[in-house]
Order: sequence, then C-alpha cells, then structure tokens
Amino acid sequence: MACGGKAQASQNNEQNQKINQFLQQVKHKIVVMSGKGGVGKSTVAANLAVFLSNQGYKVGLLDVDVHGPSISGLFGLTGLKLNIIEEQLQPHSFTDNLKVVSIQGLLDDPDSPLIWRGPVKINMIRQFLSDVNWGPLDFLIIDSPPGTGDEPLTVAQTVTDCKAVIVTTPQEIALADVRKSIQFCQAVKMPVLGIIENMSGFVCPSCGSTHEIFKSGGGEKTALEANIPFLGKLPIDPGVVTAGDAGQAIDSLTTRTKENMQGIVDNLLKELSNEQ
Ligand code: ADP
Repeated sequence: MACGGKAQASQNNEQNQKINQFLQQVKHKIVVMSGKGGVGKSTVAANLAVFLSNQGYKVGLLDVDVHGPSISGLFGLTGLKLNIIEEQLQPHSFTDNLKVVSIQGLLDDPDSPLIWRGPVKINMIRQFLSDVNWGPLDFLIIDSPPGTGDEPLTVAQTVTDCKAVIVTTPQEIALADVRKSIQFCQAVKMPVLGIIENMSGFVCPSCGSTHEIFKSGGGEKTALEANIPFLGKLPIDPGVVTAGDAGQAIDSLTTRTKENMQGIVDNLLKELSNEQ
C-alpha cells in the first residue's frame, strides 16, 4: 500500500473506533425511511424523538437528509450553527432529554443547496457518528432522505444494529416505493420495526366526518403482506403544518394526532421489547 493509502487506512480505523465507542453507548438505533419524499418522514422522525424524550428517554435526533434537511426547521433551529468544542460538534439541546444535529447546523446559508457526491455524503454521516458529543442515549433516531441511496446504505452499513421504521402515505403510488424500501432493508439485513401510515384521512373540524384524501389502509395492508408490524396511522392535521412552520415540533397537533402518535410510540416500544 502506498504511503497516502496507509495514512487514510489508519484514519479510517481511528474513526471506526470512535463510531463504535459511540454506538456502544446507544441502546436503540432507529432509521426513519420512506420510499417517496413528502410523505411526512421528517415529521414522524421529529415526533418520535419528542414523544420518546418526553417519556424520559435520552434521545438523539440526527438529520442525514443532506439535500433536504428539515429537522432544524421543525425545531426552530434554522440558521443556528453547531458549536465545536475540542474538535467535537456540540448537538443542539432542544430539551434536557433531546439533542438534535442536522447538516443545516454546519451551513453558512441554510437556503443554499448542497451539491455533494456520494463519498462526501458518506464521510459527513460517519463524522456525525464519530465527532459529535452525543453522550449516552436510549435512542438515536436518524432521519434519512427518501429512497434507497447512499445515505440509508451508509447508515445500514455503519450502524450495524440499526432498525428501520418506514413511513408512507396510503395511496398506491407511495406503497409501490415502500415495497422497494422493504426489499432494501432485507438486502442490507436491517430489521424493519414497522410501517407508519401518515396523512391517513382528514377529520373535518366543522362536521367531524373523516375524508380519506389519500385513501386509507394501504400502509396496514402492505405491512400485512410483507409480514411486518403495522405501528399505526396519523391523520392529515393542519396542526402538523403550523407546528412545523413555527419550529415547535408538536405544540399545535390536534388531540387525535397526539393520541395516535402516542399509540405508535407504544407499539414501537413493544416491538423493541419483543426483539430483545
Ligand atoms: P418528508 O420528510 O417525507 O419529505 P415532511 O415531514 O417534510 O416529509 O412533510 C412534508 C410536508 O407535509 C410538510 O409540510 C409537513 O408539515 C406536511 N405534513 C406531514 N405530515 C402531515 C400530516 N399528518 N398532516 C398534515 N401535514 C403533514
């Protein structure tokens, strides 16, 4: 091996060691995936992190969606840079129990697009696992970009005992892509904890009747067909949009959305305890 190659290999080894040290301090690693963009993956990842941390768990939320990072916005952290102390990135502490890191926290201009090729993205994700002062965690929730590209692959290969949660909307066009996500997880041997159906019906605030705008039940049917747990449904809730735009994550959700989200978290915890 040439001299430069040796130096690179030893750097990689050192980084692998740091990544392993961090991962050993994390009880559960969960990547939130979706087949398509815009189905509410980041919203679900943010809500999972908030609900689990409100229940007393120590949670880290990592946004590796380098091309469309939205976690910072959901927590009102847009434009806030991550501090670096003694060569370690310091996560934003949203609450005592919830630490948040997004690629946006490294950008000078949060509105400028990132034009990065695979190796740069892979390196960035590895650094978020090796060089962030997360501390011990009960949960590391990773918000991955939609699809089955470099980012979920890097997570699956680097975070070896990671498990996936797949978010979808109920209509067939989204479900076709969910089946690809399931196959991806099977190919990389990443267990799927379950499927969540988002934007499942709209409850009219005036008359109380439910309108199934994107249909309903498709996520559950797909889970059944693939023999994967169905974790639950979230309705279309204008409060999700208000909360997200205001950077408040969950403050304006309707009671029904909060109840459904709590049900999803309960089911997730049950699945995790079954797996142990
Ligand atoms: P993704 O991460 O899959 O691209 P986002 O979580 O960014 O999707 O959500 C896309 C848009 O849909 C956002 O504007 C978000 O506020 C909105 N949204 C997500 N879930 C819901 C919901 N249950 N009800 C209403 N709007 C939602």
